[in-house]
Amino acid sequence: MADMPDTDSAPQSATSSASSAVAEPAQQPTALVYDAAMLTHHVPDEFPEVPDRLELGIAMIEGLIAEETLAADRVLRLDARPATHDELATVHTPAYITKVQMAVERLKERAGDDAGPVKFATDVYISPGSFTAATLAAGAPLVALDAIGEGRARNGYALVRPPGHHARPAQAMGFCLFNNVAVAARYAQRRWGWQKVLIVDYDVHHGNGTQEMFYDDADIVYFSTHQFPWYPGTGASTEMGTDAGKGTTINVPLPPGSGWSVYDPVFRQVLWPVADRMKPDVVLLSAGFDAHWKDPLGDMRLSNADFSDLTLEVTEIADRYCDGRLVVVQEGGYHLDAVAQCMATTLVALTGSDGIVDTLGLAPPMHSRWNDEAIVNALYQLHDLAGYRRKPRRVGKRIETPPTQSE
Ligand SMILES: [Zn+2]
Repeated sequence: MADMPDTDSAPQSATSSASSAVAEPAQQPTALVYDAAMLTHHVPDEFPEVPDRLELGIAMIEGLIAEETLAADRVLRLDARPATHDELATVHTPAYITKVQMAVERLKERAGDDAGPVKFATDVYISPGSFTAATLAAGAPLVALDAIGEGRARNGYALVRPPGHHARPAQAMGFCLFNNVAVAARYAQRRWGWQKVLIVDYDVHHGNGTQEMFYDDADIVYFSTHQFPWYPGTGASTEMGTDAGKGTTINVPLPPGSGWSVYDPVFRQVLWPVADRMKPDVVLLSAGFDAHWKDPLGDMRLSNADFSDLTLEVTEIADRYCDGRLVVVQEGGYHLDAVAQCMATTLVALTGSDGIVDTLGLAPPMHSRWNDEAIVNALYQLHDLAGYRRKPRRVGKRIETPPTQSE
C-alpha cells in the first residue's frame, strides 16, 4: 500500500476549477452520507480494504469544504442509518443476515469488544464493529435516496465500507458482507416507486453479487465495466440475463491496460444507448476506484480526471432521464491517495463541477493501445443497440490570427 504521492510524477494543480463551475444556484445540493462507525469494521494488517480509505476520503472532502473550494451549501451532510433486517432481506436470505449478525455477536462474547478481526469467509473478516458497519453501509444509500425523494437533495454519495458488489444472496466474498447497491435498488422501487433502476459499476472487478441478484429482473439493468479475466471470474459479455431479465445484464469485460481511450467510447457508445433504451427512473453508481492506474489490485489505467469524466457522464444520464436522481455507492479502490482524491473528486462532480483533485497525474504512456472499436462494435451487436453520444467538443484556447503579408 503506497501512502505518499509519487515524487517522480509532477504534481498537478490540486482542485482545479472546483469552485468555478458549480451548477446553477437553484439546483439542490448533493447528499453526502457517512458515519464514522463504518471505520470500526477492522481487518488484519496488510489487508487492502482498510478503514484509512474512508477516513482519508472524508478528511479530504472536509478540507475542500473548509477551504471553500467546494461550497458548503452544495453539500448536505447526513448521517447513515443501519439498513433493517427486512431491507437487507430484499436481496439476502434471512438465514444469511442472521449468520453475519450471530458471528459478530459470538466474537464479542468470546473475545470482547476489543477483539481483533477473525476470518468469516474468503477475503472477508469480521470484528466486533462489523455488523454495525455493514448495516450502516447498506443503509447509507437509502438515506441518500430519501433525501432525493423528499426534495432535499438532487443526488447523493454514500461514502461507505465495507463495499458490497461481490456479496451474494447467502454468501460474503471479496471484502463484502451485504450488497449495498442492490439493497438500494430494491429500496428505490419499494419506497419511492422508481421501478426502472440503472446500476452502473465501473469498479475494476465484476460485481458478481449484483448481477446474480437481478439476473432475471426485467426492471433493473446492471451495466459493468471490469478487467477480464480477473477476480471474481464472472462478467463475460455473454452473461446477459435470463428469463424476464434477458438483456438487462450488460457486461463490458476489458483487457488489462485499458484506459480512457477504451472507457470513453464504451460509455458513449454502449452505456448511453442502454440508458436511452431503458429510460431509468433512478441511477445508482457502484463507484470503485480500483481501475485507477496506481491501484495495487487492478491493471487499468484511469486517472482521477478520467473517473471525474465517467461520473459526469453518469450524472448526464440521470439528468436526461430522471431529474438527476443518482446515488453513488462506494465500492473498491485500494491506493490510499488515489482513492481519497477520487472520493473528493466524485463529490465535486456530483455538485456539477468538472474540478478534480489530483496529485497523481496520468498513467505512463502505453506502447500500444487496444482496439476500442472492435470492443465497442462487438457489444453494440450483442445487445442490439442503437444510437450513441458523440464526443463533446472541448472549447480550445482561442488562437490569434497572424497578420497577413499584404497588411
Ligand atoms: Zn474492486
